[in-house]
Amino acid sequence: MGQTKLMSFEKHHEESLAAIGESMYGLIADLYPICRSITGKGVQQTLERISVEIPLHVEKVPSGTRVFDWTVPKEWNIRDAFIKNSKGERIVDFKKCNLHVVSYSQPVHAHMSLEALRPHLHSLPDKPDWIPYRTSYYEESWGFCVSQRFLEGLQEDQYEVCIDSSFTDGNLLLAECNLPGETEDQIVVTCNICHPSLANDTLSAVALTVFLAKHFLKVSRRHSFRFLFLPATIGTIAWLALHEQEAIQIRHGLALSNVGGPGHIHYKRSRRGNAPVDKAAEYVLNKTVNKFEIRDFVPYGYDERQFCSPGFNIPMGCLSRTPFGEYPEYHTSADDLSFVKAEYLADSYRVCLDILYVLEKDGFYVNTTPKCEPQLGRRGLYRGLGGRMGGQSLELALLWVLNYGDGHHSLLDIAQKSGFPFEMIYKAARVLEEHGLLRRQDSP
Ligand code: ZN
Repeated sequence: MGQTKLMSFEKHHEESLAAIGESMYGLIADLYPICRSITGKGVQQTLERISVEIPLHVEKVPSGTRVFDWTVPKEWNIRDAFIKNSKGERIVDFKKCNLHVVSYSQPVHAHMSLEALRPHLHSLPDKPDWIPYRTSYYEESWGFCVSQRFLEGLQEDQYEVCIDSSFTDGNLLLAECNLPGETEDQIVVTCNICHPSLANDTLSAVALTVFLAKHFLKVSRRHSFRFLFLPATIGTIAWLALHEQEAIQIRHGLALSNVGGPGHIHYKRSRRGNAPVDKAAEYVLNKTVNKFEIRDFVPYGYDERQFCSPGFNIPMGCLSRTPFGEYPEYHTSADDLSFVKAEYLADSYRVCLDILYVLEKDGFYVNTTPKCEPQLGRRGLYRGLGGRMGGQSLELALLWVLNYGDGHHSLLDIAQKSGFPFEMIYKAARVLEEHGLLRRQDSP
């Protein structure tokens, strides 16, 4: 993970990061056994558990609802599933591991030979002990996922196969925690809630989103914050279809995924590439993380693919540790509770909080006395500068902010230009604002 240095804007870093990491891990452990899919009782149970932590507003979108080019599917629920051999032994048992059933499998109850069963069995030949995670949301089929070793050991037999699932006219659930701020400008943080027992993808992101919301619940906010818990793809599309007007208010977005496993932090830029969230992430990673990677936008991944579709083009980046598909445990039973660690979760939390704080504090300011320097000494703002010209004193930060406070450079731009820490530039702007020498502006 490397050494991480904390930025210290306000009190938020006095919270014990280690304790927060443990609490996040505890939440993941609670949610891990639940069998989730894009709809169904598992999502409901997950949201009930999350609402113990933070206030949640849950929206129901009925099956059959058209959302842009998509249709909300029927609600899928599963009670039990198994494969029994001719001795009546449950050799595959959904109740032991919910990854055994292909998500959105059609119901089936039949007796069949190994030959007839085989096309319905999925395994990973190159990872012989792991069970894969598979879905079949938009085509009618059924299947079981098993380890390659198990598959190879299967004998010719008459098997009893049962998937006790149902498809009903129900609802797709979209949940959000809304925290109004001083302005209507919004920061949106999103995660997905549609995976069964997989710890890093995407429960780690759920836990991180919950704990970021818990933090911002307690502090005063300039932006309005929205923390979204959405079933992947269809949930995100439905949310955007139902909140098209509000989406316009989104100034900064961050999609979270795979934040609890090993590996260094990866930040994927928004489609715009140089949005404030991209600059803030780049700044925080450069200043506080030894090893990280920043990548350009690609049109696949998590919620950013919908938010960054050309009709919205919302500046949303995506933060993860090792990204999806790039670690062997991804979408397998090995993405379990031993794969995620409290320390990785805490580190991801710290990075996200720093990025969100840069966005909260950043802004455009205008010098109210731009013709020559205002007389700072008379206001008690300029003390003994001569002797300390080389350092990064607040006095020098005042001069940077006054000079580049032209309405075109953000505080983050000034921090980058001057090499001064963002916190110091922010502090200088606040001091100048209090003395009437600087005025905040909504946009450049
Ligand atoms: Zn996934």
